[in-house]
Amino acid sequence: MARYVDANCKLCRREGQKLFLKGSRCYTDKCAFEKRPYPPGQHGQRMRRKVSEYGLQLREKQKVRRMYGILEKQFRNYFTKAAKAKGITGENLLAMLECRLDNFVYRLGFAPSRKSARQLVLHRHFMVNGRTVNIPSYQVKPKDIVKVREKSSNLDIIHEALKSSGRGTDLAWLRLDKAKLEGELLEIPRRDDIPVNVQEQLIVELYSK
Ligand code: SF4
Repeated sequence: MARYVDANCKLCRREGQKLFLKGSRCYTDKCAFEKRPYPPGQHGQRMRRKVSEYGLQLREKQKVRRMYGILEKQFRNYFTKAAKAKGITGENLLAMLECRLDNFVYRLGFAPSRKSARQLVLHRHFMVNGRTVNIPSYQVKPKDIVKVREKSSNLDIIHEALKSSGRGTDLAWLRLDKAKLEGELLEIPRRDDIPVNVQEQLIVELYSK
């Protein structure tokens, strides 16, 4: 499947905020956004004209897509499902993205970034309810147990991430057991419990045109 392979830091600079795509580097002074907090390219430092309503909506959608590492077609599919589900479309959309297996592994703190969580899932390092799952988009459901596989339990990347991230203990909708290297989704996260700086309503407006 096609993936974005260009420099990650350019994406943060384009979106005008840190998207935390590179793990621990994002928290150091090596972060490219800290050094150059303007869009990439020759004209990046030019004064921008006023951004149109469409431009704002588009940027918000691109930001969320890039944050979760999802291509356009799949993102559109998420939106269609979110619109059909009960409740507020924008909130449904974010909840579905949060319940992706790769994101859940990242939230638990088993990986330094969503990108490396995706890689770990693809390489069959995780089980869901006792069965190996290597599909990053797999939707984790309430009461599902996500666990590091026995033969992967010595992987440095997982232990380093657990040690340095401090994630997994700060969100009420999941439970992390560091000793057992497992986590549980307690409930579908509500909007207030999803720590992302996003105006999801703009995405709904964009796709509803
Ligand atoms: Fe974004 Fe991380 Fe690069 Fe900083 S280091 S610009 S937060 S990907």
